[in-house]
Amino acid sequence: MKLVLFDCDGTLVDSQHVIVAAMTRAFARAELALPPREAVLGIVGLSLVEAMRRLGDDDPHFPAERLADLYREAFRELRTEPGFFEPLFPGVRGVLDKLSAREDVLLGIATGKSQRGVAAVLGHHGLDGRFVTIQTADDAPSKPHPAMVLQAMAATGVHAEDTVLIGDTSFDMVMARAAGARAIGVTWGYHPRETLRQSGAERLVSDADTLVGVIDEMWEPVA
Ligand SMILES: [Mg+2]
Repeated sequence: MKLVLFDCDGTLVDSQHVIVAAMTRAFARAELALPPREAVLGIVGLSLVEAMRRLGDDDPHFPAERLADLYREAFRELRTEPGFFEPLFPGVRGVLDKLSAREDVLLGIATGKSQRGVAAVLGHHGLDGRFVTIQTADDAPSKPHPAMVLQAMAATGVHAEDTVLIGDTSFDMVMARAAGARAIGVTWGYHPRETLRQSGAERLVSDADTLVGVIDEMWEPVA
């Protein structure tokens, strides 16, 4: 059996508009200057408090916990407002359909989102039940700690060499490799190709329609 683990934000769904909007509200309510958009998108994928710490340059006096609370509150509000949703990236539904139909593949998620956040995304897109293991910031240390991948492998009984993580950031690549798993970087998310390559991506994919083929090539026995 093979295990294909997906990151969520920047890999399955394009959440940048709602993330930037929630960050803007959180920093405004804390009366702090919002960091540049590139900095905000650069921390997507980390758990919330860890993400805020990085935005505060690891300054111990930076109110990371309070900002995380303000962000959660803003995100909850935004979800109820029209116009804020997290669309699937082009081709992603086709990838999930193809992989779900395979008897040799299990699907999972490893994300800095909460269980509640993942459930909202999957429900919105009619993807409930596709993923046999969902690892989140609620249950494990922030990426790039390998715990989410290790827990997903333990939950499914799949070995590291048969596990591949698909993600858009260096945090994903480092996490996967630290767990002994394979790593594929997708270039439609929030970190540049070079960052993905340098952090351990074995392959880079820029078109979702080619992803299943790349996964299969990766698992072909070396002649
Ligand atoms: Mg991501």
